[in-house]
Amino acid sequence: MADFEPETGTLFIVSTPIGNLGDVSFRAVDVLTRVQLIAAEDTRKSRILLNRYKIKTPLTSFFSYNQKKKTSSILKRLKQGDDVAVISDAGTPGISDPAFYLVSRAIQENIGIVAVPGASALLTALVVSGIPTNRFVFEGFLPVKKGRKTRLQKLNEEERTIILYESPHRLLRTLKDIFNFLGNRNLVVARELTKKFEEVLRLPVEKAIEVFQNRNSIKGEFVLIIQGK
Ligand code: SAM
Repeated sequence: MADFEPETGTLFIVSTPIGNLGDVSFRAVDVLTRVQLIAAEDTRKSRILLNRYKIKTPLTSFFSYNQKKKTSSILKRLKQGDDVAVISDAGTPGISDPAFYLVSRAIQENIGIVAVPGASALLTALVVSGIPTNRFVFEGFLPVKKGRKTRLQKLNEEERTIILYESPHRLLRTLKDIFNFLGNRNLVVARELTKKFEEVLRLPVEKAIEVFQNRNSIKGEFVLIIQGK
């Protein structure tokens, strides 16, 4: 046994691009290069970014299904004095992807946590939306089944700008629900932000339903910005 307690390492919450690999900060590259371990949601996807910036730090997977088990092993490394960075598939870890659980456990264990800020799809969409940015509420993904109707009924009373994330195969269903529960509000559909096929549609909900119903296929990643009541 060592005759001294090693200093604990630092847990870095590192934001990565939401598409365009140029949107990574110098500090993020520096931290990802220096830490002893990177915990990534999708190691295959993250390797593209790491290769681009010649980062050779070992990677381990950290996703929602293994987060409890992985959190224990990450905490162990931190307690041994290693610095660990967490990255997600895209954007800011902890925003609609795992990291929150790890952060809360690290706080309990008195481990230092440092955020390296960067891109997040919700703010990227909000600032180009033209819908008021002074007060907004981020709702993440709507519940798919249980609680969906109640959430939509509550959102109908919301006066602040509403931000939602949605996957391509649920987009139409969600647009129709927004129309039925919130009415024909002003809406912005932001698709594939920072990527080659980036698209920002500013239109009433009813028109958005028509636009996407007429497409052969709905592809990409979406943020919806809805005008408050
Ligand atoms: N942590 C990420 C962040 O900070 O934005 C969000 C992760 S969440 C699992 C993925 C969702 O974010 C997608 O389904 C989509 O709603 C949104 N998203 C991520 N990248 C996007 C992009 N380039 N354009 C539009 N929406 C995006």
